[in-house]
Amino acid sequence: MRQIDVKQITQTVKEAVMQANISLPPDIIQALQEASDKESSPSARRFLKIILENTELAVQENMALCQDTGMVVVDVELGQEVIIQGGYLNEAINLGIREGYQQGFFRKSVVNDPFQRINTGDNTPAIVHCNLAEGDKLRITVLPKGAGSENMGQLSMLKPAQGINGVKDFILKVVRDAGGNPCPPIIAGVGVGGNMEKAALLAKRALLRPVNIRNSRNDLARLEEEMLKAVNELGIGPQGMGGNTTALAVNIEVYPTHIASLPVAVNLGCHSTRRVSVEI
Ligand code: SF4
Repeated sequence: MRQIDVKQITQTVKEAVMQANISLPPDIIQALQEASDKESSPSARRFLKIILENTELAVQENMALCQDTGMVVVDVELGQEVIIQGGYLNEAINLGIREGYQQGFFRKSVVNDPFQRINTGDNTPAIVHCNLAEGDKLRITVLPKGAGSENMGQLSMLKPAQGINGVKDFILKVVRDAGGNPCPPIIAGVGVGGNMEKAALLAKRALLRPVNIRNSRNDLARLEEEMLKAVNELGIGPQGMGGNTTALAVNIEVYPTHIASLPVAVNLGCHSTRRVSVEI
């Protein structure tokens, strides 16, 4: 068994949220650059260049990429041979977020209760998803998720007879309904299968996959390409101003499901889909 002290987890999370809020992942920067080179609409091209300038300025000035520094989603893969020492995992994660948001001067966007709506003042609690894995490593991925894109997600319990065409129609409906609200170009995270909550979790997990990596299953990789083309043909464009860059990727994850179910969830990530993954 391998022991990991909670202090190391806190420090890791603190550094990860500070990095995530300031520097966009390289795969997204590259996709934005490629989209800008290919974009046919002058106003859309100009907007993509502004986004790219913003990514450079944020790093140079050590400032947040966007004013909405999000509610932090934390995806944890905990190796079964790891013993966490000195405290509790959730508390260590939340302490790291508290310290990182304080030091980074990031906006605190979390309220204590959906009805009372009092700001907790430190951007906690995070939304922590913990999965057990093989081995003696702890992998932590942070995703500070802005509400502009999060609010545009949808879930539908399709009938199995609606099949793959029902899923395709639903993805396009969600993107069309969202329009410019999720700050396109978006990344569409799609979860298909499982049950209601599993589909939603798969959709969020799909956003953690780099935009230049297709699903390892050939049929799903082809579906991702097909849906990216279809989404871009909607013509919503960067920030909803028209153009052929509505999305940078459609990432699809699937899971076994019930004979009578076909759940599908779509979670939209904005052009500022910030994520950092660290292994301890
Ligand atoms: S959707 Fe993304 S880019 Fe738009 S305001 Fe929210 S965090 Fe910022």
